[in-house]
This record gives sequence, C-alpha cells and structure tokens, in this order.
Amino acid sequence: GKLERLGVQESVEAIFPPSELAAFLSDLPVDVSVVDEAGIADCDAVVTRNHFDALFEVDWIHSTQAGVDRFPLEALAEEGVALTNSTGIHGRTVGETVAGYLLAFARRLHDQIASATERRWERPAWDEAFTLPGTTACVVGTGTLGRGVADVLGSLGVETVGVRRSDDPLPEFDEMYAIEALHEPIATADFVIVTVPLTEATRGLFAASEFDAMRSDAYFVNVARGAVVDERALIDALEAGDLAGAALDVFETEPLPETSPLWELDEVIVTPHAAAYTRDYVRDVGGIVRENVERSRRGEDLTNRVV
Ligand code: NAD
Repeated sequence: GKLERLGVQESVEAIFPPSELAAFLSDLPVDVSVVDEAGIADCDAVVTRNHFDALFEVDWIHSTQAGVDRFPLEALAEEGVALTNSTGIHGRTVGETVAGYLLAFARRLHDQIASATERRWERPAWDEAFTLPGTTACVVGTGTLGRGVADVLGSLGVETVGVRRSDDPLPEFDEMYAIEALHEPIATADFVIVTVPLTEATRGLFAASEFDAMRSDAYFVNVARGAVVDERALIDALEAGDLAGAALDVFETEPLPETSPLWELDEVIVTPHAAAYTRDYVRDVGGIVRENVERSRRGEDLTNRVV
C-alpha cells in the first residue's frame, strides 16, 4: 500500500532524540510520529535501531545503523518486508575517529591524558613517540567506512593498503589485496583496521593466527562489529606483548562488561560504540529516510536496500 504512516521507533534514542528526527521529517507528505513497541503496529514504515517482532507487519524498515546484523534478514525477505540501512554516511566520522586513535598512539596522548587525570607530570620515554607519515595502515573492508578511514589517514601521510573481496584498486588506497591473501598485508602493517560488516564470512575473521601474523609493534583497531574479532585471542595477544596495543569501539558484549581485562590495559583505547557519533547524525540519517519516502511514494526502488 501507499506509505502514509511513518514511525520513529524509540530505540533510536541510543543515538539521538527520536523527536529530533520526527521534527526533521515533519515536512514530508506522510504522518510522522515517535512510536513505542506497541505503536509499531499502526505504521506502514518504521525507522529503528533495534529489531522487534512487530516489525514483520510493516512494509518497510529503515535501520539507523549501517550494520544490519541484528535484523533477521531471511525471515524479513520471506515476509516481504523491505529493509534499508544507513550506510554511506559514516565515512568521515569514523575516519576521523580512527585518525584520532592513531594520533593518540603515535603522539602518546592516551598515556599523557591517563597521567594527567592522576595529576602526574609524566613524559613519554625518549623512543616511544613517533609521527604518522611513513607508517602503513591495512584497512580490511573497503566500503563507506574503509574508504573514509583511508581518505583521512592518507591526508595524514599514512600509506593505505586495502583488503576487499577482489584486489581491484580503489582511488583512496595506495595498494589492494584480496581477502584470501589477508595475512600478507597484515604482516607488514603498523596499523590493522577492521571495517567489514559482520556476516557468516567475517565472524571471527581476526583470531589467534591473524594476531600471530601481525607485527608485535603493530596496533589493532576495530570499528566494525565485536564478533568479527575473537576477543579472547586479542586479549591473549595483547597480554603476551604480541601486539603493541588496540583501539576498540565495538565488543562481543556491549556495553563492555566491567570485568573485561580490556579496561585495564595501558595500550588499549576503549570507546563506547561511538566512532560514528556526530551532531549531524539526525540530518544524515534523515536524508536517507527522506529520499526513500519520496521514492516509495513515486513507486521507485528504495536506496540503501538490504532486503
Ligand atoms: P558498506 O556496506 O559501505 O561496506 C562494507 C564493505 O565490506 C563492502 O565494501 C563489502 O564489499 C565489504 N565486505 C563484505 N564482506 C566482506 C568480506 N567477507 N571480505 C572483505 N570485504 C567484505 O558498510 P559501511 O558503512 O562501511 O559499514 C561497515 C560495517 O561497519 C557495518 O556493517 C557496521 O557493522 C560497522 N559500522 C560501525 C560503526 C561504529 O559506530 N563503530 C558505524 C558504522 C558502521
């Protein structure tokens, strides 16, 4: 049927106030309102962060995240429910966050901030700090995130090596490898950065043998999904000194449990799944929703369609 009622599900409040997105979309020729779980049933389409069983009854779901691993893709396809995602908007934000991690490690900022919180005037050892030009980052996954990361790091003088399903070149990367050859580029990189979606093919992609393959003075960065990495194997590698450190935005369990050893490790930066956060988020997500409401009402195919 024709799209008439669009709900903004309350679960988006993990990212921004639902009312802000509803207000941003209020000029559309559809009825837009914030809905709780029970309110989903009254909608033709719903913008949401989380999955709810009631969503099987709507025509179209829009995920405020790029990753759709929390949605039952096959079941939605069987029920004829369309699912669109928010890929395409996180390149610059995540790229800058990753640059921040690398700059922190190189310039020792995380260490000095940790000292400062205890009022300690403590400089790095003479041979600890370095600069980024001349270092190499291997970026695994060359979609929006991977390209955004390569673009920002390239502007800082970092050599960028991409890993994708083919080894076809992309303009943001100095070099490209196919995923089958993963161990080759990660063996030489100063930084290994994970930007692939969580799928059956990428679950546990980084485990003991990958951390073994990496240099012991290399840093590991995960801004994709926690389950792409075997977290126990990563902790073991860090504790054994087989890696220099890690910056992690995503975890097997979120929020990261208080008991996790990752909180305690000096060379580990933990951020709360916030790598893509920006005050522009409402407008960025809203732009995709707006475009698809217009397409839907014209009877055209949706953009960013996953199912
Ligand atoms: P995207 O769809 O633009 O890019 C994903 C890329 O990964 C594509 O180029 C795809 O071809 C590639 N890929 C898929 N399977 C692969 C495999 N087996 N081997 C090699 N490459 C493979 O998505 P995106 O916007 O770049 O986001 C990527 C993922 O990052 C999301 O699925 C999400 O899980 C995560 N993410 C995290 C945050 C955060 O806040 N930390 C923000 C946005 C996205």
